[in-house]
Amino acid sequence: MSGRAQLMWDEAVTGYDFGPDHPMDPVRLALTRSLVGALGLDREVRVAAAAAAGESTLRLVHREDYVAAVKAASADPRSADGSYGLGTVDDPAFAGMHEASALIAGQSVGAAEAVWRGDALHAVNFTGGLHHAMPGAASGFCVYNDAALAIARLLELGAERIAYVDVDVHHGDGVQAAFWEDPRVLTISLHEHPRTLFPQTGWPEETGAETAEGSAVNVALPAGTGDAGWLRAFHAVVPEVLAGFRPQVLVTQHGADTHIEDPLAHLAVSLDAQRAVQLACHDLAHAYADGRWVALGGGGYAVVDVVPRSWTHLVAIAVGRPVEPATVIPESWRQEVYARTRQPAPRRMTDGRWPVSWADWEAGYDPADRLDQAVLAARRAVFPLRGLLA
Ligand SMILES: [Zn+2]
Repeated sequence: MSGRAQLMWDEAVTGYDFGPDHPMDPVRLALTRSLVGALGLDREVRVAAAAAAGESTLRLVHREDYVAAVKAASADPRSADGSYGLGTVDDPAFAGMHEASALIAGQSVGAAEAVWRGDALHAVNFTGGLHHAMPGAASGFCVYNDAALAIARLLELGAERIAYVDVDVHHGDGVQAAFWEDPRVLTISLHEHPRTLFPQTGWPEETGAETAEGSAVNVALPAGTGDAGWLRAFHAVVPEVLAGFRPQVLVTQHGADTHIEDPLAHLAVSLDAQRAVQLACHDLAHAYADGRWVALGGGGYAVVDVVPRSWTHLVAIAVGRPVEPATVIPESWRQEVYARTRQPAPRRMTDGRWPVSWADWEAGYDPADRLDQAVLAARRAVFPLRGLLA
């Protein structure tokens, strides 16, 4: 069962562009949007554009001086000198930076509002998931933290329990930081271990402030983790924690950079396992959040081969019409990919790994196995704080 789904889209989000030498190429958004259309999903989903997040919304998470700094850098990119993280290698300033960032944030806030008000049961903003932005600084290709803003808006509307699940290969540090002291927001992040990857946080021992002990959950996976390990870790931690928390809304972040082809990280996950986790998140929303689900994009730097297919699966799952992995991709989309990027497009909606299987945690674990050690570290750090057996 899926009910009405809403896809957030405004063509102008592709203005979020750090320039030709930057790995976060906005073509990934345009190609995802057109693949959604090419597979006929437009007919099943309401496509809506929300207004850009205004000053009062941005201030739910971001500091006044930081928003002013973004606006100044946006108006005069050459003035950005690295302060507030703006004008750095990761976050170079560009003309219109404030407007494009606020527009993406607006789509996530709009998705959250639609779900909270019941206009849609599920809402997707694959252009969002910019989870590294901090209250007072840009970081890791992220200017405004649309995920945190969507959650903050839900709190403002009266929500009392919101769960955030982040499966991007990088730690969801900005969202964790925004709600570090707030027991109403449970953040769960599965990511490559901080020892080997930016932003070098997301240790299992990070479990929330004293006022919110156990409200941050971190699963730090060894580099090289593949499909079976990734799914095993997800299922060993996420469902149990959500079952105990009973969120009113589930917000998920689906960075596609866990993929083995991703150039910026070192996990070895396939498109098929990403799809399996998307399906699991949808099921979890129905099991524990009355179906209320806000799904976001995130990282993903294999911009032709991975991102469009991964997030098209996400949209299809939210719509209630999952795309079969064996589906052949329409030639029209493949031609568009070549025209825009001069790269060959994938032929099918699978990496050939479907169905993906994993070993259930309940059936036992191997204390000598590095993946199992990572899962155990997460469970031992946080489960007792949540009244669960580690
Ligand atoms: Zn990432």
